[in-house]
Amino acid sequence: MKIYAVGLGPGGLEYLIPKALEVINESEVIVGYTAYVKLIEPLLEGKMVLSTGMMGEVERCKLAIEKAQEGKKVTVVSSGDSGIYGMAGLLMELLGEDSPLQVEVIPGITAASAAGALLGAPLSNDFAVVSLSDLMTPWPVIQKRLQAAAAGDFVLCLYNPMSKKRTDYLRQAAEYCLLHRSKDTPCGIVRNAGRPDECLSIVPLSELITAQVDMFTIVLIGNSQTVLLNGRLVTRRGYRV
Ligand code: SAH
Repeated sequence: MKIYAVGLGPGGLEYLIPKALEVINESEVIVGYTAYVKLIEPLLEGKMVLSTGMMGEVERCKLAIEKAQEGKKVTVVSSGDSGIYGMAGLLMELLGEDSPLQVEVIPGITAASAAGALLGAPLSNDFAVVSLSDLMTPWPVIQKRLQAAAAGDFVLCLYNPMSKKRTDYLRQAAEYCLLHRSKDTPCGIVRNAGRPDECLSIVPLSELITAQVDMFTIVLIGNSQTVLLNGRLVTRRGYRV
């Protein structure tokens, strides 16, 4: 018996991998956050759709498990990759050690990958991914990870960079990087990658201190090897060119 955790990619249907499309088409029940379910609306005809608001993740996964245990083919969708700040892990945690139900994870294009492609090639060398959301990870832990990544000269991908309640974390992340990197280090801000209202900008690290972003945005901070080449963000890997 299986339940599917499917990543939808960053935006429209063109970013869905063929295997994800196949699994969704074969599913009788689709479970997901309302905004993500909307992205795949054309695929949902005739299916039972269970969608809830942002805070209902645990309830949503429990409901999905219930339906799967009734013998239905169930897919839980996440944006991007369902194993990256998505529902795949939660499903496995809820099922625990002894469940006969197996979770099959179908990967998707994560926001860092989508944003990197739009900006150029900023992730060509080692990079670190940090979520600035403190809903489940305490801020001191996030701070420690940011400081380590900043000191380690990793390119940084910041998911969940700002919410109405958390307006200061991006500034602090930038401050940690400024301790080790030039204020001119190029950074990318990408909002709604792969969606109709996609927009992006490239700014120097010093400007991230005051940047206003939201939860639909991902922020990439270059490292000491990141340069702007013909308008694109490129992290040099060390090739002799
Ligand atoms: N599972 C998702 C991440 C979910 S966390 C993935 O793999 O992409 C939610 C955060 O991801 C958002 O706050 C934002 O920082 C980022 N994000 C997701 N989709 C995005 C998109 N299309 N454009 C820009 N950022 C995105």
